[in-house]
This record gives sequence, C-alpha cells and structure tokens, in this order.
Amino acid sequence: MALLPIETELTGSNTILRKRSQEVEDILSPDIQQFIRDMHETLAHTDNGVGLAAPQVGKNIRIFIAAPELGLNQTVFINPVITKVLGKEEPMEEGCLSLPGLYGHTVRSNSLRLEAYNERGRKFKMKADGLIAQLVQHEIGHLNGELFKDIAEQVSEIHKK
Ligand SMILES: [Zn+2]
Repeated sequence: MALLPIETELTGSNTILRKRSQEVEDILSPDIQQFIRDMHETLAHTDNGVGLAAPQVGKNIRIFIAAPELGLNQTVFINPVITKVLGKEEPMEEGCLSLPGLYGHTVRSNSLRLEAYNERGRKFKMKADGLIAQLVQHEIGHLNGELFKDIAEQVSEIHKK
C-alpha cells in the first residue's frame, strides 16, 4: 500500500489533469489492482474527500473511486459511461482535492444512469441521484481533462486556519 501524491492545478502547469484519460484494458493486472488499492488508501487520508479520479494521482486512465462512507454498492468505477441523464439541472456547491481551498457553484443534472466496470472486471449499471450524480459528473470530468472551475459560475477561495 502506498499513499499517492495528489496532483493540484494551483500552479497552472499540470498537464496530467488536463489530458483526456485512456480506457483501462486489463482491469485484473497486478499494476491496476495495486493502483486501485493505493487510490483507496489515498482518498481515505484526505480531509473530507468523497471521490478521487486516477489523473488526480498521476495516471491518465479511466478510473475513479467513491468513498466507502457514501454507502454505495460499488466504490470503483472503471471506464464509466453516463448512459442517460434523467434529472433536472440543479445548482450545487463543489470543491476538489486538486483545487485545494476553492469552492464554486456548478449546475449539473441531479439524476443519471451510468455503466462501468468494477475492480473485478464485472460490468454494472447504477442510477445516481443528488450528491452521487454530482460526484459521477465531477469525476468523469476529471477523466476528460476538465475541472469543476471550468463550469462554475463563481469560484471563491476559503483559507484554512
Ligand atoms: Zn475533483
């Protein structure tokens, strides 16, 4: 197990966060399996992080994870695809581990369906609402090289004491 350094964009020079990530071909390979375990350990050590995408920890591959505390049936989303946008657009407050101290209001759909593969290589379907729908859109954004501040209406900075 290893903690992975989290890429941030505050320096403005981060190319990994801005690249479109590639699909994972061999989910069961030891490298990918270890990487997923490291992602979980890294997320667990963050302050209130609920999701983490592979480019945030240095790999341009299509994986994101959700914190176990969210209580989802699946915590690993590999090659995820939004198959249907169901809900209405709703303003939401967002932050990101790669943009420490920044918060902003985005407008995203509050319900969707998605398909992805889990860490055992099994395909699954899920309906996501509210916070989970927001998380899915935020994390898939990372896999496409996007950050929430790109679409946020206002971004404000909160300094921690
Ligand atoms: Zn993020």
